[in-house]
Amino acid sequence: MSDSVAPKNPMNPMPGGDAADRPDPRHDHRRLGRELGLFDTDPLIGAGLPYWLPDGAAVRHALEEYIRAAERRAGYRHVYSPVLGKRELYEISGHWSHYSDDMFPPMDLGGEQVLLRPSLCPHHALIYRSRSRSYRELPLRMAELGGMYRAELSGVLGGLTRVRSIQLNDAHIFCTLGQVADEARGALELIGRAYEALGIRPARYRLSLPGPGGKYVAAPELWRRSAALLTEVLDGLGLPYEAAEGEAAFYGPKIDVQIADAAGRESTLSTVQVDFHQPEQFGLEYVGADGAKHRPVMVHRSIVGSVERAVAHLIEVHGGAFPAWLAPVQLVALPVTDAELPHAEAFVADCLDRGLRAEVALPEAGSLGARIRAVRLVPYQAVIGAKEAADDRVSLRLRDGRRLDPRPADRALSEITAVLAGHGTALWGS
Ligand SMILES: [Zn+2]
Repeated sequence: MSDSVAPKNPMNPMPGGDAADRPDPRHDHRRLGRELGLFDTDPLIGAGLPYWLPDGAAVRHALEEYIRAAERRAGYRHVYSPVLGKRELYEISGHWSHYSDDMFPPMDLGGEQVLLRPSLCPHHALIYRSRSRSYRELPLRMAELGGMYRAELSGVLGGLTRVRSIQLNDAHIFCTLGQVADEARGALELIGRAYEALGIRPARYRLSLPGPGGKYVAAPELWRRSAALLTEVLDGLGLPYEAAEGEAAFYGPKIDVQIADAAGRESTLSTVQVDFHQPEQFGLEYVGADGAKHRPVMVHRSIVGSVERAVAHLIEVHGGAFPAWLAPVQLVALPVTDAELPHAEAFVADCLDRGLRAEVALPEAGSLGARIRAVRLVPYQAVIGAKEAADDRVSLRLRDGRRLDPRPADRALSEITAVLAGHGTALWGS
């Protein structure tokens, strides 16, 4: 990519990893999550097991639908798979021997041991294996927004960033060795577009390699090949990165897209991984053009990682003022007096019909000024006074303080719908 677009390109990290768009320290997602009614916890449900309130669920739903649509356009097919699996499944995948400290203990059930899954990969490997596969089907891109579990210690749990129940935006691409680089590059491009839509930026890219110790599968030649492929992809895209030992998955190296919180603490949001190990473990095959059986490579990738961590970061980056397409409430209609209430209700009904999340702020809730202050995080505020009501118009105020000329209600709605459909961070078209 050229230098001229680099500063604005969401794929490029903040210079030095500490530009001005790091979250504001006042925007702690745990405090804002409670204040804005997005999520909460209950000791009876348990630590690290937050529940989502309606406004938080609306944000999560919008995020998940954006991801699914982006994946569909990029040629992924979605599946559902259960959050439980037999212990034997994780013995085959290698999770049991390399990762069991992070897993919930097995449940005994009718003489079998069943586990809450620590990842989606083994289920997807079995779905791949359930049919005979031809080279014509590759790359086969299988995606799922699915639940997984991590037995985090109670001392480290908090908010949405350290949880025991995780909704993972996951996908596995089964492909030939020759397709790996293109698929990894395509995944990084999806990640870049999503970051642009979400208004977030990476702090840095990390090439995560194995470190000393026994928690990695032993296959030096495969590790070397995987790392070389990922390095080639990063270099090809011109993305700066740092290599980090000891951060790889147990089955292979990965590209981690790191984000930073207000204190500069980094965590991994998105990943792209190349895996030769699990296709081997599960005996995955495809029939090649030569009629013989071959082993595919598995590319694991996540655009926004866990939905919990992604929403926590969005809350902190935007201080609750989400991009309009993600906002829990996108439009509030403000009738100046009770006389305009029927017009406001009709306008909101039209908004709901068009798929917007919209509400009326009733005159009884206070003066117009007080009501506007109360909905200051809502991207679109439609004021309807006597003049507007008389000819079916609205006066739009944008969250950033801009006021637009009164316009016919249906035109306003079409303009807002067009902005939302663009999945950007701008509140209004140019
Ligand atoms: Zn995976």
